[in-house]
Formats: sequence, structure tokens, C-alpha cells
Amino acid sequence: MKSPRSDSPVSRRRFIGQISAAAAVALATRVSRAADAPPPPRKLGVALLGLGSYATNQLGPALRKTEHCRLAGVVTGDREKGRKWARDYGFPEKNIYGYDTMAQMAGNPDIDIVYVVTPNSIHAGNCIAAAKAGKHVICEKPMATSAADCDDVIEACREAGVRLTVGYRLHYEPHTAEFCRLAKENVYGPFMRINSENGFAIDPEARPATMWRLDRKLAGGGPLMDMGVYVIQAVCMAKAEAAPVAVTSKFGPVTLPKVFTEVEESIRWTMEFADGAVAKCYASYNDQVSSIRAEADKGWAELEYPAFYYDEPVLKTSQGKPYFPKVNHQVAQLDGMALELMAGRPSIAPGEMGRRDVAVIEAIYAAAKSGGRVEVKA
Ligand code: NDP
Repeated sequence: MKSPRSDSPVSRRRFIGQISAAAAVALATRVSRAADAPPPPRKLGVALLGLGSYATNQLGPALRKTEHCRLAGVVTGDREKGRKWARDYGFPEKNIYGYDTMAQMAGNPDIDIVYVVTPNSIHAGNCIAAAKAGKHVICEKPMATSAADCDDVIEACREAGVRLTVGYRLHYEPHTAEFCRLAKENVYGPFMRINSENGFAIDPEARPATMWRLDRKLAGGGPLMDMGVYVIQAVCMAKAEAAPVAVTSKFGPVTLPKVFTEVEESIRWTMEFADGAVAKCYASYNDQVSSIRAEADKGWAELEYPAFYYDEPVLKTSQGKPYFPKVNHQVAQLDGMALELMAGRPSIAPGEMGRRDVAVIEAIYAAAKSGGRVEVKA
């Protein structure tokens, strides 16, 4: 196939006349091969929606390092901040959108994917607006604050014919992927006894801008929504992505009543699976914990603290400590998702998985309120 951008015959002949015949043959062959070669694959254009802490400190910097996607635009409520991002990341100002102008993105070929990074209860509306603009969607965790909202997002993406994935970075992290493999391939038999926890000590004074996490309307809940979703994810990984059939739950004591006026300070719950496996779980906004241990009849696997943070997780098994390379989680996730999309492969972190986890969260809150065992409608 002839490249439409190949040099004109005249200019090429003149240039060849100035070099030796052998070199000319070699060069002509190379030129013709280059003209026939497919163009290098285009990096997919990502627009970050919501330029807060995670977008600024992790996702933006990761998009400088990704091989298969790049930062092509932003959606923000603060136009001046958008201009600064355009200067820093070298994209045109026409690629800055507001939440109310996203429909105009439909005609912009620079942007393939919108990555939603706003407070939890706003995710669903943002995702639906992105889908309506014909863009693929990556939604941060938790996908929404109710399973009904997740259904609306899934339906909007299906209708628009765009892909929906959830920002579950750990699925693309090698130690965690190995933990998944051990479960999927039943290396030690099914994991039947699982313990997992995740939390951090929230400090309302240190980062006041991100304190929507303590506002029920914006966050949808407390540490269960924010940190507990990693625990639910990891436990489901240990069960080869099965959903639990039922949960029980109990809110922890409130030790900081001035801080936790709307959301729980901590919560403990159990997840029961169809094969009889039980997971004992904990999430907290007042405790620096992050780990999972899963035991089967023929062995065990454990991701030690800080299993779910941005650092390299430490994987230990009953056979030893396997080696896997350290990766930047966000780079691995963004490139992984871009490659899945370009190859037309199903995602390992699809919207349906995000919906499963939100349905589990709803059941856990219902169990904590009722004090009883609640079946999960995942
Ligand atoms: P921030 O508060 O730092 O940023 C949220 C941004 O959303 C704001 O800066 C703002 O951007 C935009 N926004 C739009 N509407 C509102 C509103 N009503 N109130 C506040 N902000 C609003 O939050 P984070 O970046 O820490 O978290 C954002 C999302 O990312 C959450 O869903 C969280 O769970 C998830 N997250 C995921 C992580 C992971 O490891 N996967 C890690 C950290 C967070 P602008 O000014 O540009 O409009």
C-alpha cells in the first residue's frame, strides 16, 4: 500500500542523485518499506474529569509515562485550573470542558476516554454525560453510591456503544494479579477462610478540600464506600470473582464524635460465599491497616500491609515469597485499559464488577442497620 504522505518522485530522485548507487538502493528500499509500514499506533486520548487530589498527584503524572494513552483534555469546574493543566501537559485550550459543556466533546476526535475522578455520588451523572458524548468511560471507585445508579450508567454506556471500566488499579498490579491467579487456578484449593482490612486515619484539617468524604450526600457512606471497596474487591478476587451470597455487619464505636457526624468511623462485616467460604472484613477512617490473608486446605496466600495502597504490595504464600516487578499502579492500569480497548478484549475491571461491589456495599449497610443477615443481590 502506498503511503499518501510519501515524498514526490522528483524530490526523492534529486536526493538519491547525490549519494552512491548502492547506498541509494538501500535507502530506496528503506524508504519504500517505511512507506508500506503501518503508521505507529495512536495513543488514546484521555480527558480527566475532576482535577482534585487523585487526578493531580497520581493520574496526571501517570499519563506522562503511559505508552498507549496520553492526557488530551480535562473537564473541570474551574476554567483557570484547566488552562494551567493545558499549559503543563501541552494540550490545546479547546480541550478544556466544563461539567455543563461535555456534550460538545462529541465532535472532538482528540478525546477517546473520559476518566471520572469526582466525589462518589457525582460519578453516575458524570459517566452518563461522557457516554452521551460518545466517549469510553473509566469511573473511579466506588462506581456509584447505589446499585440503581450503577444500572443507569451501564445502560447509558450500552446505549452509546462505549466501554465502561472501573479504576480498579490493583487488577493491573502484578503481585495482586498473581493472588488472583492462585485463586482462579485453585492452586491451593478454594480459599475458605479469608481476613481483610483497609483504612487510614482521616485528618479533616490536613486536607480540607477532600473532606466531602465525611459528607454523606457526596460520599454515599464512610470508610466502607472508600476503603472497604478494596476489601470487597480483594475478597472477591480470592473467590475467583464470585459475588458473596450474604453478609452480616456492625458499625464500630464513634471515638471522634465531632468528625463522624454523618458517616461511620469504622465497620466490620462478614461475607459468605456459596461454597461455604467466609471472609471477615474491616474498614476504618481511624486506623492505618491494609491487608488480606486467604487460607485453603492446601496452602495460603497473603498480601501484607500496605496491600491496597499505592506502594508495592508484599505477596507471601505457603510456598514462599514470589518475585514480581514493581510497577506504577496508575500507569499499569491506564496502559492496561488502553490495550484492552484497542485490542477489543473484554476488560478485567468492567462496569459490571463495579456494580457487583456497590450491591455488596448496599447489603453491608442494610445488615449494619438491621443487625441481621442480608442476602446480596449482585
Ligand atoms: P478531591 O476532593 O481531591 O477531588 C475531587 C474533584 O472533583 C475536585 O477537585 C473537583 O474538581 C471535582 N468536583 C466536582 N464537583 C465537586 C463537588 N461537589 N465537591 C468536591 N469536588 C467536586 O477527591 P479525590 O481526588 O481524592 O477523589 C476523587 C475520586 O477518586 C473519589 O471517587 C475517590 O474514591 C477516587 N480515588 C481513587 C483512588 C484510587 O486509588 N483508585 C485514590 C484516591 C481517590 P474541579 O475543581 O476540577 O472541578
